[in-house]
Amino acid sequence: MSNVHTINGTLESAALGRTLSHEHLTNGMGGMERVPGLYDEAEAVDANVEALKRARAAGIDSVIDLTPLDLGRQVSLFQKVAARHDEHGVNVVCATGVYRWVPSYFFRVDPDEIARYFISEIDDGIEGTDVHAGIIKLAWDVEYHLDEGFMTPRSQLENTARAAARAAKASGVPISCHTRAVDELGTPLLDIFEDEGLDLRAVTIGHSNDTNDLDYLKGLAARGATVGLDRFFVQAPEEELARRGGVALAMAQAGYAEQTSLGHDATPYGCWGGRTPVNPDCWLGVPAVEVNWLRDTGASDADIDALQTGSVRATFEAAAAMKR
Ligand SMILES: [Zn+2]
Repeated sequence: MSNVHTINGTLESAALGRTLSHEHLTNGMGGMERVPGLYDEAEAVDANVEALKRARAAGIDSVIDLTPLDLGRQVSLFQKVAARHDEHGVNVVCATGVYRWVPSYFFRVDPDEIARYFISEIDDGIEGTDVHAGIIKLAWDVEYHLDEGFMTPRSQLENTARAAARAAKASGVPISCHTRAVDELGTPLLDIFEDEGLDLRAVTIGHSNDTNDLDYLKGLAARGATVGLDRFFVQAPEEELARRGGVALAMAQAGYAEQTSLGHDATPYGCWGGRTPVNPDCWLGVPAVEVNWLRDTGASDADIDALQTGSVRATFEAAAAMKR
């Protein structure tokens, strides 16, 4: 058992319950609240409270928000959603870290300085508030292949990954990674974390159901990491939902349910690529569709419990154990 920071204060890891492993209360870009007409906080709060109520009614206990500052994190949104906890009843864990377009601040500073910033958001609170980050986000995507030029994205991504590892060890919180699964970017990330002496059980390699390559996914789990099957959009065609569910079923059948987590990568109120429609049903795909599909296709209750509950909890406990 360990303590987890939520936007309503600390919670024992055992109380996380059924957890969506990768979501966004909102998303877009850093500073989006300053662009006229892009982000309305009162609307964002209402959309989130409604989405959390619907998720709670479908059996969800906790949501992990993976929106660092450069993806449009709004700490005042966390505060307002936290103030209405009695209404929705869901625990929300929020993140420090960095999204995929590494901001210029990170270009020339060393990993220890970046780690100090991550640690301050975990240990002291975000932007002078008492909202503490409970997890570290990293995002490796096509930029990983850009290794030349002034911005040298790959070297900056590696720099921030080392910073994340050092902050995770110092503060005892897990790391959750957006990755481009078809490029198998979980592998170089785990290599860096291993080099930094991190317990890989504290790491989730996300967006992993964007591939069907089970050898790659089982290889990540064999190294100790958790595989985040955290993209599940109910608007997708049925064959695609079955394909994504099939990856979860295959991981469970390979004995890795305890290292496989589920989510949507969805937001009820987002500005990524411009304002997206308000969607209070965005967190129902896993509890109302995928879990039933898994049960119907042969997953046991123990597997489903591990996928929804045990896997995420284990990342928090492995992370906390590094700090002790
Ligand atoms: Zn995401």
